[in-house]
Amino acid sequence: MHRDATKSSSFHAAGLTNVGKVRDNNEDAYVVDSDHGFFVVSDGMGGAQAGEIASRVVTTVLPVMILARLNRLRNPGSRAIRYWLRQDILRLSQQLHAEADKKTAVRGTGATVVLGLLRENRAHIAHMGDSRAYLFREDHLSQLTDDHSIVAMLVRGGEITAEEAKTHPARGQITRFVGMEAIVYPDIRTFPLKAGDRLLLCSDGLTGMVSDENIASILRTTPAPRQACELLVGAANEAGGKDNITVVVIDHEGAAL
Ligand code: CA
Repeated sequence: MHRDATKSSSFHAAGLTNVGKVRDNNEDAYVVDSDHGFFVVSDGMGGAQAGEIASRVVTTVLPVMILARLNRLRNPGSRAIRYWLRQDILRLSQQLHAEADKKTAVRGTGATVVLGLLRENRAHIAHMGDSRAYLFREDHLSQLTDDHSIVAMLVRGGEITAEEAKTHPARGQITRFVGMEAIVYPDIRTFPLKAGDRLLLCSDGLTGMVSDENIASILRTTPAPRQACELLVGAANEAGGKDNITVVVIDHEGAAL
């Protein structure tokens, strides 16, 4: 278990990852970079050590790509940011696929990504897979990302209910991820941040175990991001902790970055 918390003029954020109660290794990883307003959760897959490698590639390489972009462009507009987030995540995906394809032990590996880039009172959320972003605003929790998964497709098509999705045999099978052979782009959404907004990025080890209602209740009653992370992970473990659990909680305090 490791964690960190940082304080900047605009954000107060913390992240926490935990192996859970059942798995032997932790294939999740995260980034908290409050100075640059940059946050990531990634959930690796592929068995043996492959999933760990994939999520670490995402959380190591993606910040380097993003920081290089931010250094080159002093004040990029929202359209530019969305364009290069798409390009960089595709490039990362293709690089991971090419690397993994060379080695039998890690062939077919991949990882989800959910990323928050918060600039000038705007949030850009990019994702592939079933790791999620949520916004807690004015006492209301809303999910910002649609899972790229088989069960989410079935729910959207009206084939199964959200309740049935929780126990469906295809649960956990994702349709878009970093490291896919196909050319795939993330979904990206941009919206204005308000003072007091709280963002949550998380892996499915949280959302598979803890209801949105309980997540909202913890976010509502726990002002400190670090403590909110601890309580969210604790709730997932109390519910069985069947998967690795990773959470990043970001409080936007209103000042311009
Ligand atoms: Ca997972």
